[in-house]
Amino acid sequence: MLRRTFLSALPLAAQISGLHVAPAAPFPASPILFKLPAGPDGIALAAVGLEVKPGPLKLTLANGETHSIPIARHQYRSGIITVPPQFVSPPPKVLKRIQEEAAVKKEVFATRSPRRWKGAFAAPADTPQTSPFGTRRTYNGKTRSIHQGLDFRAAIGTPIAATQAGKVLIARDMYYEGGFVVLDHGEGLFSLYMHLSKFEVKEGDTVEQRQPIALSGGSGRVTGPHLHFGVQWQGLYMEPATLLSLRFPA
Ligand SMILES: [Zn+2]
Repeated sequence: MLRRTFLSALPLAAQISGLHVAPAAPFPASPILFKLPAGPDGIALAAVGLEVKPGPLKLTLANGETHSIPIARHQYRSGIITVPPQFVSPPPKVLKRIQEEAAVKKEVFATRSPRRWKGAFAAPADTPQTSPFGTRRTYNGKTRSIHQGLDFRAAIGTPIAATQAGKVLIARDMYYEGGFVVLDHGEGLFSLYMHLSKFEVKEGDTVEQRQPIALSGGSGRVTGPHLHFGVQWQGLYMEPATLLSLRFPA
């Protein structure tokens, strides 16, 4: 089902188990937006795990209520990627760097701060989407991994904008990510921007939605210049095209 991830067909909301839920048919790795009968602003966002099997998913709300949300089947694609060999078999001299960067990311993604995001999410680049989330990729016939974000076409120097208001937790070069920005939107929701060529923000800054944060590039593990955009919610990567197309209830 390419349609959902690629053309961003507007997902319709539904009433499921007494809750207003969007998209109408959540699927593995999709975001789920809930309009709750009660709560601080009546809206909650969550992600479905990529490994969740289609069928009923039990959901427990903060107030203890449980709901059963049906998870639909979703077909992700496969692809073969060729990158420079040092990104498939990193040379020994960079292993320490890779380990240190993994530790930085682990600490950053454990951050839990108050909610900063509000309403609909903005596209990080004003360019076409090129490679969808969830593709099972084989790098150079060897390493297998899942594409945990959405790629945008971006010639080097394309302005990249914050999808939501947030705080800059990472703005530095990393081995695989290249020029890398991570924004904390609160409640365990983070957006990630990779392969950048220039930073317009620094770690510790706060940003508004749509504020320019960087220029795109072709750094890190890439086949060519583009923007990789990822969204993580409490440790789960979600499918960004659906997130960007969600319409938030007033
Ligand atoms: Zn990507």
